[in-house]
Amino acid sequence: MINSMQDVLNLKGKSVIITGGNRGIGKGISLAMAECGANVIIICRDSVTAVETITELKKFGGKYKYYIADVCNLEQCKKSINDAIRDFGKIDVLVNNAGTVRIGEVLDMDKELRGWYDVINTNLNGPFIMSYVIGKHFKQNKNGCIINISSNAARIVNKPQKTCSYNTAKAGLDRMTKCLSYEWAPYNIRLNVIAPGCTDTDLECKSEIRQYIKHWKAQTPTGRFAKPLEIGALAVYLASEAAEQITGSVFTIDGGYMLAI
Ligand code: NDP
Repeated sequence: MINSMQDVLNLKGKSVIITGGNRGIGKGISLAMAECGANVIIICRDSVTAVETITELKKFGGKYKYYIADVCNLEQCKKSINDAIRDFGKIDVLVNNAGTVRIGEVLDMDKELRGWYDVINTNLNGPFIMSYVIGKHFKQNKNGCIINISSNAARIVNKPQKTCSYNTAKAGLDRMTKCLSYEWAPYNIRLNVIAPGCTDTDLECKSEIRQYIKHWKAQTPTGRFAKPLEIGALAVYLASEAAEQITGSVFTIDGGYMLAI
């Protein structure tokens, strides 16, 4: 509980797991956490970008490591979390950031419905599996914080692109966060959602997305996309002792995108 604002965002001594912390928004969260003193643990699939990001973090002077795992795979999640607990002693914060998207009309989807299952698995089942595994550790420690990176798309029908599976998974993630925050509050485990709107990652590089950027910018009252570090700053606040009374809440950071659609 805070008694003073002095050093309130200092995360020294805390260890934070960030899924997909190697790039994009996740990298912004890794940088923000590390600069505020936290040890950062990245869980992802691509070792090349993981090594690059860990190298960048080193200037902040904490302990940083990455583990390779697919967040949809229970056994891989268990192994990476157990390895992190062994290497770091304890974990204080989990950020479920890893995510994916498929754009297109539902009736045009592949016949095996892989487009649906991939998105639901990564964006909803992944955060559930990670939360389930770390939840046992947090309960034992009588302390823990989970931050789920959702999207404003959980509460709107995105346009002009069609992203039914994505919107559905993110809406489920918001609801799961509320259910677990109620269930786990007695164990001193807090869960909250950050719901970004468009964020400057490598969106411009993705050919299926490039065509929508002009539309999204025009729809954003602030006239620009968020920066990954701005999402990171909110994550730092939610992980800090300043936010100890906040659980089950959704924090939108979208430059006002949803105000007038
Ligand atoms: P990117 O596409 O840039 O990166 C995705 C990240 O997720 C990568 O680090 C990737 O790891 C990881 N990842 C994906 N699938 C898996 C998996 N199965 N197992 C482990 N790691 C996985 O994403 P963004 O930075 O754009 O998005 C991050 C989060 O923010 C997502 O949840 C997204 O839905 C959300 N968001 C993004 C917005 C945006 O405008 N960018 C807007 C609103 C929400 P690897 O590199 O190893 O594959």
